Amino acid sequence: MNRPGGKSKNQIGYPPLYIGFQWGEPSVGEDSLRVEKVGGSLRITAARPDYLSENRPWDFIGQYEKARKKPSINKLELGKDSPHIEFANAKGDDELITFVRKFGPIVANSWKMLPITVKPGPVETGDSPLQILMRARQDFQELRAEQKIFRASLALVAELGKKDSEYDFESTKRKIAEIGEGIADWPRQWARERKQRHQYPRWKISKESIGRIVHLSRSKRGGLAPQVDARIVLCELINAFPALAFPNPPEMHFYLRFGIRPLLYTILRREFFQPRDVAICANSQCRAFFEVQRAGQRFCNAVCSRRHRQRDYWEVQGKTLRQVRLANRAERI
Ligand SMILES: [Zn+2]
Repeated sequence: MNRPGGKSKNQIGYPPLYIGFQWGEPSVGEDSLRVEKVGGSLRITAARPDYLSENRPWDFIGQYEKARKKPSINKLELGKDSPHIEFANAKGDDELITFVRKFGPIVANSWKMLPITVKPGPVETGDSPLQILMRARQDFQELRAEQKIFRASLALVAELGKKDSEYDFESTKRKIAEIGEGIADWPRQWARERKQRHQYPRWKISKESIGRIVHLSRSKRGGLAPQVDARIVLCELINAFPALAFPNPPEMHFYLRFGIRPLLYTILRREFFQPRDVAICANSQCRAFFEVQRAGQRFCNAVCSRRHRQRDYWEVQGKTLRQVRLANRAERI
């Protein structure tokens, strides 16, 4: 049976919306969000999303889902496409800036709308002729701290994916300590956001949660399964950013305007509930996160695997050569 009201009828004058979870999109004439370094912070300028295009590289959750469905075809970089892995793997300030240029601030210390401008060019595409530009500031220290917290959190997820016998209690403890140290600043950020919004932000971390995490980072190995500590920490983090539903795009965007951190922890929630084998590269010089593409994969790419084999080879070779040298010397004596 046909449903009343055909597709075309529904869409007269209303281009379809492709709702995505994103902070912004490039303003007309630009191909990424504009990011400028000003003192100790980043100034980010972008258009408020109008959700009219299906393909949006700046949609954080959309890109995560895309990476899930279709893993990388670039054989050199297996399973590093997902934006949450890109963030966790970011090395140094330049890579963090590249990330912000794609997806916007993680946590903005200010947000404002710029005067409305009219988009240049033809408007008969159904596109809105108006462009709403926004500007946010992201403190660089806070950005680095967020990356450290998220990296440690993802490491806990990876640790929970291991067999009991491989679970590294000491390394988990260090990660928990890093998380506890980092999120100690979240209440201050919450208060700052509340002041600017003139209402309570919908995410929140309690003092009790932070205290619990700090306490776990100092506790000795107890009688419970050691994995319980990591689970408690992940739950506390995830529960700070509740799963919310929004009746329309403006309300959703209102939630995200102070940064996409809630989206990072949405992904952490999914990874925690449905672990998809996130692993850390076994090459000790690399330690990058990657999504395991085949059983037993230990390295994030072919280069790391080769380096590791070469190191093993030289370790064995070195030992043999040393033994030969020692033997020769012994003979000469
Ligand atoms: Zn690697």
